[in-house]
Amino acid sequence: MNIKSNDLKNLHSSMQNSKLTGRLAGFESPTGLSKTEISQAVRTGSLGFVHSWDMSTSVDGPGTRMTVFMSGCPLRCQYCQNPDTWKMRDGKPVLLDAMIKKIESYKDIFKITRGGITFSGGEAMMQSAFVSKVFEAAKNMGIHTCLDTSGFLGDRFSDRDLNNVDLCLLDVKSGDEKIYREVTGGELQPTIDFGKRLAAAGKKIWVRFVLVPDLTDDEQNVEKTAKICELFAEAVEHVDVLPFHQLGRAKWHELNIPYPLEKTKSPSAELINRVKKQFENHGFVVY
Ligand code: SF4
Repeated sequence: MNIKSNDLKNLHSSMQNSKLTGRLAGFESPTGLSKTEISQAVRTGSLGFVHSWDMSTSVDGPGTRMTVFMSGCPLRCQYCQNPDTWKMRDGKPVLLDAMIKKIESYKDIFKITRGGITFSGGEAMMQSAFVSKVFEAAKNMGIHTCLDTSGFLGDRFSDRDLNNVDLCLLDVKSGDEKIYREVTGGELQPTIDFGKRLAAAGKKIWVRFVLVPDLTDDEQNVEKTAKICELFAEAVEHVDVLPFHQLGRAKWHELNIPYPLEKTKSPSAELINRVKKQFENHGFVVY
């Protein structure tokens, strides 16, 4: 398709005018379904519970991206910024066809900016059938796909599902099993297994590591995390060291959930540099 610069201008302007962030009003929800029918639809992927979505550039993958935040998460990370995404049924039910149509409507802008669709959460893999079907439709339209995940439920994606993933933003939350359990309440091994499968399938990975003082910052823990990344070898394009901040605190308070990191401060520049250097010493490009 030959797209003129005016078309691009119009597309950007329509994105800005429609105040995209967080709105779900544009999506149809089904009516009159019983609980059993809803569960069945989630299982088959014809329906997904969505917390919110937004359009952004160069945050959740390359180019301009539509990021869909699915609701539901099996982990309980101490530093979670979005505890309001934890329960699947707190999201809005969205029909598969409505989601595909929405993505299709941004096809041109994805093409021009080399962007695409990103599924995040919550944990996107809680609703793996829905995500897989949207990815398949996106690939059929030539749209780049990105999965933002902890990898904890990685085994829910078959090798065939993986074919439709171009890039994975993989959270390696800790390299030490005990610390991983303390941070998330879950087990580390599924993340390692999923990263290896992505690498074997020739997929690209951007590793994300959240640096929290007195929780994930231990030198040996960072070393172990870097060694896990080495298992994914050439698949890792870069490692993002994400400094902890307190932006999520208000949500924990609103939801009346005891917040374990109430008094934790953001890491110092010195600590960030030490951790980045550790990953660099293992040969990784680090941001
Ligand atoms: S995996 Fe993500 S959404 Fe789930 S608890 Fe951890 S930070 Fe929050």
